Amino acid sequence: MLNQDYTTKLLDLEEVIIKNVEKDAQSLHIHIELPKKEHHCPNCNTTTSRIHDYRIQVIKDIPLGKKTILYLRKRRYGCPCCGKRFYEHNSFLGRYRRATKRMISAVIEYFRKLCPASEIASTYNISTTTALRYFDAVNYGATKLPEVLSIDEFKGNAAGQKYQTILTNPKDKTVLDILPNRYESDLIRYFNGCFEREKVKYFVTDMNPHFRNVAKICFPQAKIIADRFHVIRQAVWAMERVRKNEQQRLSERFRKYFKHSKYLLKKPIDRLTDVEKDRLALMLEISPKLAEAYRLKNEFQEIMRAETSLIGKPLLIAWLYTVEAMELPEFRDCTRACRNWFTEILNSIDYPWSNGFTEGCNNKTKVLKRVCFGVRNFKRFRNRILHCAN
Ligand SMILES: [Zn+2]
Repeated sequence: MLNQDYTTKLLDLEEVIIKNVEKDAQSLHIHIELPKKEHHCPNCNTTTSRIHDYRIQVIKDIPLGKKTILYLRKRRYGCPCCGKRFYEHNSFLGRYRRATKRMISAVIEYFRKLCPASEIASTYNISTTTALRYFDAVNYGATKLPEVLSIDEFKGNAAGQKYQTILTNPKDKTVLDILPNRYESDLIRYFNGCFEREKVKYFVTDMNPHFRNVAKICFPQAKIIADRFHVIRQAVWAMERVRKNEQQRLSERFRKYFKHSKYLLKKPIDRLTDVEKDRLALMLEISPKLAEAYRLKNEFQEIMRAETSLIGKPLLIAWLYTVEAMELPEFRDCTRACRNWFTEILNSIDYPWSNGFTEGCNNKTKVLKRVCFGVRNFKRFRNRILHCAN
């Protein structure tokens, strides 16, 4: 009797009476039934407790130490008034389901982990197809647009498209939606279908002109913020181009030295060790042009750290004039981008929002794609990302 109470507690299914428990090496077989009760006929609403017959229903449940199968002796009632036959109600099994509700929700919950569906399936002793079928009940609808909206693309290879678009709210760190492609026209159509677009006050994007066009059309009231890491990268890339051009002119020995020491050019000065400082100094001594480029890159980073755009703006203008006057071909893309994104760059000085969170999500998605061996079904892919991220 004690054992039975224990199992009842373990089962913790409402009203269930355990009739028998059998164990074998792999599984636990639990025979259950529900208390006899008065039921209302679904056809004529007559109250009845007249039993017509019984059927055994096999139900999968969450593993209680080992694979667990419930055998429910299901009662069928017969209505004395209209003759309708109907099964008794229970609270733990969904209609047309062969697994308990808690089993299905446990499986769905497991899908939040970045792991393949096959792992989830084997944990719950079900087939991968069944696990995926349970998960397909999950459907994330469109969310409300936030005050701060961050947009980015990622290589998802889903829905026959190489790139997908991700929308996040960097303020409360949530993923809002995944869109099947990155086309301007489709993005505009998507946002035009969203309610309360005027609520978006800030639109954060990398320096992608398509995303900016979308913002200007769909969110004319919002401030567009260029992601500051992308902005700074422009200057870093320019410096890197100088380094590459310079090291080509050098002897084999110095070329290797430059290659091995290139990370020092990107490392924050205050984090350089004394040995590293010496290595860097030697590099800059060998190539005065690289020394110039390094200085320009650092100055640019410094400008981006300005307290406000009011302070940063004249500094950025002066920097642009200086660089342009130097006529460094390696910096041409950088200065062009800075002029082209001038307002958005200054906005990134004034507001703390960036695409950092969004890019973190993209990394998670990469892991997900790898463990799932790619996800071809876009709807499932989208739901899985939203499920894992939120
Ligand atoms: Zn009836």
